[in-house]
Amino acid sequence: MPSAINNSSSTHEPQNDDPDSTTYRQDLHPIADDPFEQHDVVVVGAGPSGLFCALKMAQKGIDVLVIESGSAISESPRAIAYMPIVLNEFEKVGIFDDLVELGHQNNDGIQFRTPHNKGDELLTTVKLNLVPKSFKRYPFIGINTGQDRLAHLILKHAQRLPNFHVKFSHTFAGVQQDDNGVRITAVTSRGEKYFAAKYLIGADGAGSSVRRSQCIPFRGFTWNDFRFMAVNIEYDFASHGYSTGVMVVDEEDWAVIARIDKEGLWRVAFGVRCSIPEKELLAQLPEKLERLMPGPRPLNYKIVAANPYWAHQRVAEKLTSGRVVLTGDAAHSNNPIGGLGLTTGLLDATALGNCMIRILTKNEPDPAALLERYSTVRKKAFVEYTNTASIENKLRLHCQDDEFKTKRAAFIKNITDDPEATINMAKAMNEVMDDDFEE
Ligand SMILES: Cc1cc2nc3c(=O)[nH]c(=O)nc-3n(C[C@H](O)[C@H](O)[C@H](O)COP(=O)(O)OP(=O)(O)OC[C@H]3O[C@@H](n4cnc5c(N)ncnc54)[C@H](O)[C@@H]3O)c2cc1C
Repeated sequence: MPSAINNSSSTHEPQNDDPDSTTYRQDLHPIADDPFEQHDVVVVGAGPSGLFCALKMAQKGIDVLVIESGSAISESPRAIAYMPIVLNEFEKVGIFDDLVELGHQNNDGIQFRTPHNKGDELLTTVKLNLVPKSFKRYPFIGINTGQDRLAHLILKHAQRLPNFHVKFSHTFAGVQQDDNGVRITAVTSRGEKYFAAKYLIGADGAGSSVRRSQCIPFRGFTWNDFRFMAVNIEYDFASHGYSTGVMVVDEEDWAVIARIDKEGLWRVAFGVRCSIPEKELLAQLPEKLERLMPGPRPLNYKIVAANPYWAHQRVAEKLTSGRVVLTGDAAHSNNPIGGLGLTTGLLDATALGNCMIRILTKNEPDPAALLERYSTVRKKAFVEYTNTASIENKLRLHCQDDEFKTKRAAFIKNITDDPEATINMAKAMNEVMDDDFEE
């Protein structure tokens, strides 16, 4: 196909295997009557939050299009742990059994240890596995698997529905709205595509273009002491007494070490000083792992993936702007210690999916008021729980401030001496969502 007939400013040519090639040929006649492809809802971002929200809506007959800038689901090493509060939501949409089959069932406690170079001392264990059955919703504490696998699973279920559509390599570029709906521009390698819908959902991650298009400030801060490095690694931590989740406490060599799947992949996520230039991060990896990891030397491991991240504690000033609504990391972002980011995102997606079902299938009397309430409730959940708890979780691992050292010592003593402390943590992990906006 000669590039001269491509209307786009891009130099990419259409791929022969592109399922949209018919559309491409139609694009050779750009003066179509209505270039706007119609859907009920367009979701920007095929991350787990966007896909989960889309699946919920599509299951109730809403026509949903997901547009994703990547050419496939992102495989960057991020979330791995799913607690009962989200498993409960997975059950409702019918993906729970597949996830249990796919993932590693966590039946361990959470250990707090020092790093290998400080003696690999076991400081305490949150013995969640000993919690009485009456406090547990499931016969395990949670399920672990990579968020890419979770996203693929949600997508597989959604693609069984005729009213669910997904377009990869489509980057959201802009939106206009009026009383009747939204009009969206996406950029593809073959030029621009236009969509019309009743609502637009921004599920496009912490750097959300949808949020930015609405000039919604992302309030909070970005950590400037440490960045995070997430490494997926093949190594048998369990044979060295490590439980499924281990918090490594140290001023410099703090980390979270956790099992990712039943095949034996593990995650080592640790802090790296922000002053270290990006290009040196990978070169420092072997030394860092040498300080952190248990077992006989020389260490014998295989790194499968490694990625650095900036960590934020930020929340959008509001989650709605008329017919444009934010969910997941597009609405808020927090450091990953404690596994609360996607947990919160999936609960947003649940609530927003339920709002859309009420608005589009149940004649909700005041849609704008419902979405305002969604914004208020989900922002409050982030600010009052996720933000506070994730900051506390991070500082517990490395902060040397006197007040925090006292708090850390009290936490460890409390967990070690008082079985009720563990039970209270288990109760919190087994709570269901307060307000899921279901009618
Ligand atoms: C190291 C690490 C470990 C973590 N561990 C956990 C954990 O165990 N538990 C937990 O709950 N959370 C965890 N998190 C947080 C979790 O990864 C995020 O909360 C989660 O990715 C949010 O999902 P999302 O779908 O909202 O956004 P994302 O996963 O960021 O997905 C957004 C999607 O939008 C697409 N996109 C972006 N811009 C555009 C555009 N303009 N047009 C079209 N598409 C676009 C992106 O390509 C992406 O596919 C962790 C994070 C990190 C960094």
